[in-house]
Amino acid sequence: MPQLIGAKLRALREQAGWSVTALAARLAVPPPTINELERGRRTSALPQYLAYLETLEVSWPALAALALPAAFLQPGQEPPLWELRRCPMPTCSQHAAPSTGVTRTIDLPVRQVARFRCKACGRQFTRAYDGSLREKPRRPQIQPGNPPPVVKPAEQIAQLVMAGRQGLPNRQIAHQLGWGEKTVCAYWISLRLEEEVHRAQARRRAQEVQKRHAHLRQQVETILAALQRTDSVITLQHVGRALGRNVDYLQTVPELAILVREVAQQHNTVLRQRRDAELEACVIRALEGVRAATAPPSMRAITRQAGLDCDRFQVTHPALYARVRQAVNAERVARRTALRQRQITQIHATARRLVRQGSPLTYTGLLAAAGVDRYYGFRDRLIHEVLEQWIGDPEPCD
Ligand SMILES: [Zn+2]
Repeated sequence: MPQLIGAKLRALREQAGWSVTALAARLAVPPPTINELERGRRTSALPQYLAYLETLEVSWPALAALALPAAFLQPGQEPPLWELRRCPMPTCSQHAAPSTGVTRTIDLPVRQVARFRCKACGRQFTRAYDGSLREKPRRPQIQPGNPPPVVKPAEQIAQLVMAGRQGLPNRQIAHQLGWGEKTVCAYWISLRLEEEVHRAQARRRAQEVQKRHAHLRQQVETILAALQRTDSVITLQHVGRALGRNVDYLQTVPELAILVREVAQQHNTVLRQRRDAELEACVIRALEGVRAATAPPSMRAITRQAGLDCDRFQVTHPALYARVRQAVNAERVARRTALRQRQITQIHATARRLVRQGSPLTYTGLLAAAGVDRYYGFRDRLIHEVLEQWIGDPEPCD
């Protein structure tokens, strides 16, 4: 067993393109540990197996289901009757070479045969030890109208015919009458009822499928109704899980998948709109908060306050992002304008005072006396004009 797990681990590692050294580094163990794990030499290695699998992102059940190609098994590690473990279905992935994807169900050494089951396609088959396939004819070898191989009482034959015309499966009829299934088949041929019974059975199977689908549809509708009352997104996978099935189950029932998709689309659209509205309100509140603060407004500050990631927000809600960005820019311009207005008033007042005192006016002197940053004072066109107005004219009139 540890050897098989080890071989599977090695197959997975090689499939993922990791070297022993790389994986060892990732798991923070010395490389020989990896080799030992893969050779199955470690006992009680469950924690290491789990760490190994986690690194390769493979689940424990997936490991169990993994079928190994022959190249991964060294002689001596092979399961018994290895050469016989090939699926007889030509279209199956386990057909070409022996594989652990084929399990042995029964071994009959006395008869020199064993039975196997293919995990990939579900086919069960019997192979002799020499590799030949043992197939039994499915249809009894008698001709229509020939006497049946086993003679049964007339009363049971009447029951048989009735059940056959109702389309009950052979297995069920055989069970009810206490017959063998092959005898039932032989009787259909003998009584020339084979075709009629097969048609009735096909009809009955179709009806049962329909009934199952109707029941399933009802279940799906109930689940959808319940999910629609919640605030979570509806997906095919959710509904599949709620049905107690595999997440991909609904993909196999197209008409139900369509129903779920329709309901999901409606529900999810409303949900998204509501979430977007909530998000917008939240961002707008954050914008107002930033406006009220003294620090200059920025997109980062707003998104942080709304609990969002700025870059993600830009990708997921480009329109809202653009609107907020515009508001931020407008706010910056407004702040700049107000500041400049205050500075201009300040420059005028200072210049008047300096002229009254008879002090000479220079660009830098005036800016410093007015307490205006030189950098802005020289760069801002309007402030520059005000300075020119005072200093360009040596005796400005008050
Ligand atoms: Zn198969």
